[in-house]
Amino acid sequence: MTRLKNYIKGIWLDAKSGQYLDVENPGTGDIVSSVPLSGKDDVRIAAEKAAAAFGTWKEVPAEKRIQYLFGMKAILEKNADEIAAICTKESGKTLAESKGEIVRAVENLEVACGIPTMMQGEFSEDISSGIDEFVIRQPIGVGACIAPFNFPVMIPFWFFPYALACGNTYIVKPSEKVPGAMTRIFELFEELKLPPGVLNLIHGAKETVDAILTDPNIKAVSFVGSTKVARHVYSKGTESGKRVQAQGGAKNPLVVMEDADTETTPKIIADSVYGCAGQRCLAASTVILVGGAREKFKDKIIAAAKSKATCYGLDEKSEMGALITKESKSRIEKIIEEARSKGATILLDGRNKRVNGFEKGNYIFPTIIENIPEDSDAATTEIFGPVMNLKYSDTLDDAIKFVNDGPFGNAACIFTASGPAARKFRHEVAAGNIGVNIGVPAPMAFFPFSGWKDSFFGDLHGQAKHAVEFFTQTKVVIERWHEDWTRKF
Ligand code: NAD
Repeated sequence: MTRLKNYIKGIWLDAKSGQYLDVENPGTGDIVSSVPLSGKDDVRIAAEKAAAAFGTWKEVPAEKRIQYLFGMKAILEKNADEIAAICTKESGKTLAESKGEIVRAVENLEVACGIPTMMQGEFSEDISSGIDEFVIRQPIGVGACIAPFNFPVMIPFWFFPYALACGNTYIVKPSEKVPGAMTRIFELFEELKLPPGVLNLIHGAKETVDAILTDPNIKAVSFVGSTKVARHVYSKGTESGKRVQAQGGAKNPLVVMEDADTETTPKIIADSVYGCAGQRCLAASTVILVGGAREKFKDKIIAAAKSKATCYGLDEKSEMGALITKESKSRIEKIIEEARSKGATILLDGRNKRVNGFEKGNYIFPTIIENIPEDSDAATTEIFGPVMNLKYSDTLDDAIKFVNDGPFGNAACIFTASGPAARKFRHEVAAGNIGVNIGVPAPMAFFPFSGWKDSFFGDLHGQAKHAVEFFTQTKVVIERWHEDWTRKF
């Protein structure tokens, strides 16, 4: 079995902590590798090496720094099939979903290649006679990202390409549940001969994260994961004087109006709820049918959900793969059971289903529940699995009120043929990513990945211009030059 290593200052190293965790293939139950659980010393060394590399990396012209990103793009594209297969074996998602992640990672590299323009400052000439004033952007030092399990490839690319292009050095900490894809990417990146220490990889879990949050050499932390941990990372990181952006969990509503397109809407809804087995932070979780939409869409949505082929992600027929862990599977099964015991109706029950040949995998098939009591976990918590909460409301106003009463604000979508209804929804809804006739409103790399309320802690988001602002600090210069510069001031 492969024992993974950390990558620090261009060298593959065992963790000093000496602690390891088995990594399981969620689709088969097989152990695929063991991952180091790095401790405080491992983080300290990585951060020291990254801080030492910062001194010279920030002096490399941005135009030269981005040449490495062009190289990364070529490597990802050339090796997409291999990386996607590793991602599927560790995360349980389908091969098509893993390939989609790589496309998103590449888009971020492409946008970050625009840093020479995006980093440009502002200039005012002659603010007073012979005096000019300007703002320049400079890198802040060592950055680190802490990633979740559900997008092992894409999420670190929301951050580190921008950090490096701006002149910072960096540490990536993947989720301990899916460490292999990023490890392979780092192996492949070795051919680029990045200066040692510029880009580092450190594996681990809670202890590793807590060491990152207090290490004095690390100046900026980007976190993506559950709300509970996002809150902890934000408060502990900012308390240590770091810049922190922390993206949290979600429970995304999707509103269907009676005039929505009957042909396309049910399939888009099923793709949103069941893509990545519901383990997507922008996945719809609660589907609200407004007025006559109940009559028109309920059966079609159930049919679309039933048609999703659930099997091992490497099987080409698979449209929905496995859940990340056995604990996650049993947690979700308990949530479904609790809702049922409190009076909910299970319209489609995905529990206790068999995927032939993969009996040890963590599978729950598409599930739909209606009339979920408001005090049940299914109504109040992020399920993060293939479970749809089907609800009904009389008016769009009621639906918007329901959306806005919830604690999260990651995504909200509406399906309608009415411009005014769509406008009202996007204007009034308290969420950071809005979809109109779109089921998964994932921002392209040249837009920030937004998020409101308990779904985001911080000010600046990942991707594009927000990332450039996050990874740079402004310096304002006021400069006086007389025509005869030898004249005494
Ligand atoms: P998680 O919070 O369990 O773990 C995220 C990271 O934090 C991992 O690297 C993990 O090692 C670390 N971690 C876990 N527990 C910790 C603790 N107690 N203290 C310090 N660090 C800890 O999240 P997950 O289960 O890996 O990912 C799923 C969650 O991520 C869901 O809630 C999902 O909504 C969220 N997510 C959000 C977005 C977004 O953009 N808002 C995107 C993807 C996923």
